[in-house]
Amino acid sequence: MTQVPVSEGVFTWPSDEPHLIGSKCLDCGTYTFPVSTGCSRCSSDRLETVELSRRGKLWTWTIQGFPPKAPPFAGNADPKTFKPFGVGYVELPGEVKVETRLTVADPAQLQIGMEMELVIEPLTTDDDGNEVVTFAFAPVNDN
Ligand SMILES: [Zn+2]
Repeated sequence: MTQVPVSEGVFTWPSDEPHLIGSKCLDCGTYTFPVSTGCSRCSSDRLETVELSRRGKLWTWTIQGFPPKAPPFAGNADPKTFKPFGVGYVELPGEVKVETRLTVADPAQLQIGMEMELVIEPLTTDDDGNEVVTFAFAPVNDN
């Protein structure tokens, strides 16, 4: 099965160690995700494309218990078969807070400040039979 990213240029793919792709302002050092053409802090347009850290800390989270209306939802939006998933912000150290899906939807497994790592996971299957993959963050279990 072919795996295709849900959108181009959001993360490095295919890759054994995928990274999110963001921008870094050459004038003030501010990071943005996703890639931007202008700095949100100093309005500079001198930005370079960078690979962001694979690990960060969970900044805040919630459980998405019903199919989101907007932005257009590429996953399973059928209310009958929809599975709740975690969403949150992961703060990449010294870089940027990333709004992301989480691999777990169990509040007992989520704690603000916990270490999280980028993973790529299947989202849905497109009309051509390709597996559409998206990024998410998973709790790190190495302590
Ligand atoms: Zn800037």
